Formats: sequence, C-alpha cells, structure tokens
Amino acid sequence: MKTLTVLGSTGSIGTHSLDVLRRDREGYQVYALAAGRNTDLLATQIAEFRPAVAIVATDEVRSRLCEQLTAINVPKPRWPELHWGNSALVAAARAPQVDVVISAIVGVAGLEATFEAVCRGKRVGLANKEVLVAAGRLVMDAVSRYGAELLPIDSEHNGAHQCLRAGKPEEVHKLILTASGGPFRNTPWPDLALVTPQQALQHPTWRMGDRITIDSATLMNKGFEVIEACWLFGLPVHQVEVVIHPQSTVHALVEYKDGSVLAQVCATDMRMPIQYALTYPDRFEAPVPKLSWADARKWEFYPPDLERFPLLKLAYECQAAGGSATCCLNAADEVAVAAFLGGKIGFLTIYEIVRETLSKVPVRRPETISDVLEIDRQSRGVARELVAARMNRDAVTA
Ligand code: NDP
Repeated sequence: MKTLTVLGSTGSIGTHSLDVLRRDREGYQVYALAAGRNTDLLATQIAEFRPAVAIVATDEVRSRLCEQLTAINVPKPRWPELHWGNSALVAAARAPQVDVVISAIVGVAGLEATFEAVCRGKRVGLANKEVLVAAGRLVMDAVSRYGAELLPIDSEHNGAHQCLRAGKPEEVHKLILTASGGPFRNTPWPDLALVTPQQALQHPTWRMGDRITIDSATLMNKGFEVIEACWLFGLPVHQVEVVIHPQSTVHALVEYKDGSVLAQVCATDMRMPIQYALTYPDRFEAPVPKLSWADARKWEFYPPDLERFPLLKLAYECQAAGGSATCCLNAADEVAVAAFLGGKIGFLTIYEIVRETLSKVPVRRPETISDVLEIDRQSRGVARELVAARMNRDAVTA
C-alpha cells in the first residue's frame, strides 16, 4: 500500500487524483490533504479519505474548516490534525511515512513543499509546472542528488515520458508538445483586445483551474510546458517544438534521429496521467473511457502563430536566457492573469505586463529556493506596479 500527500486536493488535478485513489482503496492511503480556502470540499474529502493531517492556507480558514467538519457531522475523534500555512505544507510533503506526493497547488505556493519532497527522495507526481518554471535547475539537481522520482502529470509531459521509454536519450532528435490552441486560436489579433474573462475561461477541450485556463488562451501555458519539458527531459530549448492540435488527443510526439516519430494518444482526461504517475513502471486498468476506434476521426496539426501569441515566443527566449528569467516570467504572468480575471486589464495587456516586468528585473542565478522566492517577490512587485499604471492609464483614456 502506498501512502500519499495530496497538495492542492480541492483543485481540478487534486479532485481527479482523489478519484484515481478512490478506485483502488486497497492500494493507497492518504496521509495529508492540503488545500487553500475551499473548506466545504476539503471537509467532504476528509470525511471520505480520513487523512492524518489536513492543511489550509490561513488560520482563519482553519477555523472555518472546524465549523464545516462539525456541520457535516464528522465526529471529533475522526478529525485529522489541522494545520495552516507553508511550513505545514513542507512537513506534510517530507513526512517519513509518505511515499508519494501529488504536487497540484497552483503557482509558487507549492514550490517549497515540492522541493522538500524531492530532497527526501520521494516519488513526486508533478502537475504544478510552476515548480520547474521557477526553479528548474535547483529541483533537477536535487532529483539526481537525492534519487527522487519526478513523474509528470501534465498530459503532454506524461505523453512524452511514455514515448521516451522507447529509445535512448541520445537518440532523441526532438520533442513535440501539442497544444489545443485555446478558445482564440482562430480569433484575429484586433478582436483579442476585446476578449472578456468569461470568454477566455471557455477552454475548448479541458476543464481546469482558472489560471491555467487563461494561460492556455494566451499560449503562455504552452510556453511554461516547453520550459518544463527542457528540465524534465534534459533537452535544450531548440529541441522542444510546439504544434497546434485542436483535437487534444495526441498529447506529445518524440522524433528519434532515424526519423521515426512516436506519439502518445489517449482520451482527454487527467486521470490517465495521474494514474500513470502513481503506478509507473506498471500499467493498471484504464481510469477513463478508452478511445473508440470504430468512429472516423480527424486529427489536424499546424504551427502556432507566434505573432498573435507572443507569450509563447517569450517563454523560448527566457529559457534560452537561463537564470532567473523564467521565474520572473511566471511571477509576472500570475499577477497579470489575476489582474485580467479581476477586470483590471485587458487580454492583450497580459503580454505587455509580462514583457515589461522581464525588462525591469535583472536576470540572476538563484542558488537556493529562498533566492527563487525573493526573485518571485521582486517580479510580482514590479508587475503589480505596471498593472496599477495600466489601470490609471485606462481610466484616463476612458
Ligand atoms: P486549481 O485552481 O483547480 O487548483 C489549485 C489548488 O491549489 C486548489 O486545491 C487550491 O485550494 C490550492 N491552493 C491554492 N493556493 C494555495 C495555498 N496557498 N496553499 C495551499 N493550497 C493552495 O488548479 P489546477 O488543479 O487546474 O492546477 C494545479 C496545477 O496543475 C497548476 O500548476 C496547473 O498548471 C497544473 N496543471 C493542471 C492541469 C489541469 O488539467 N487542471 C493540467 C496540467 C497541469 P483552494 O481551491 O481550496 O483554494
């Protein structure tokens, strides 16, 4: 039986992860569930999975969780230890009894805990791509130093991980990540300025958290995935390509040097890569409906338009620049996306904020996770000032 900590249990990946665990009660037990603020859902998960520990973002949320556990009649003796904040996340990730950590908190809030799990040599099912975007070199150094197993849950990287099992690293010519293209893949540039948060949140093929959905609409998410792939598979950025594939059924392709291309194909359901990350190197019964090959199907592939989606290009440039550039990219984007979702800036202004933040924050070489978090804080500060200036400018224009 494997013992797990699920970081981000109330999110899209977290709930899909618990659904995979639900299918194999004999195979898994939950040590800790960690969430941000959704106490209603966390209380239900506690009642069902009976973890030893539960963690939320703040002390005030912890009090709400107590009320909620009482409201749904979970008897006190069955309550887990209730904690809040980052040091509790770190403790739950590195607890000796934990075999596997699912890293599914959104943003750098999950970075330290994920890093600690790696430093304890655990298996980490990595959904939280910001961990590698912000601190790729440090995390991968720790993976080799402590013998941790980093298994990607992101569907494209999970697909690539499967294709890469067929050959040797030196035989790989390039890795190709597919992108659905998001809801605006055919929208002309001038119309993108008028896009609303509601429109941007309508992803054509995946149901995910808000930030990743907006990042998918700008193709920033694909840029993050390029960076994530470079770190996970030890590839230089010019060996990682992106291709638009609106059907989202082929998740990744690996082209070997003899010209042979292997593709990973499965239904668009995150439970498949989650289960793979838990059971690797074995394969268990499908946690999702299998694809039907009796129906005719059409698969399209075409190159992304980097003029209309410049954040993808920026991601390539940041990875090539190295150092802290990608950490700054992630922080600026997180601030800009939150401002867009809050109605403070327009869709195209997300790119402006990110580009200008990058031009104002000098690139450094972070030596520790604290350095990374400091660069993250500095970049957020710059991005917030730029957002405030844009709001003033827009107010004056109006
Ligand atoms: P969601 O927004 O749906 O979930 C985020 C989770 O993080 C929630 O459980 C949230 O808690 C929790 N959280 C946020 N802040 C904190 C905090 N300070 N402390 C503890 N927990 C916190 O995101 P997704 O599940 O969509 O994505 C999670 C990660 O996985 C992201 O990095 C994303 O890029 C990546 N990913 C997601 C995919 C998907 O299909 N959804 C696919 C591939 C990668 P609460 O809701 O309770 O506040």
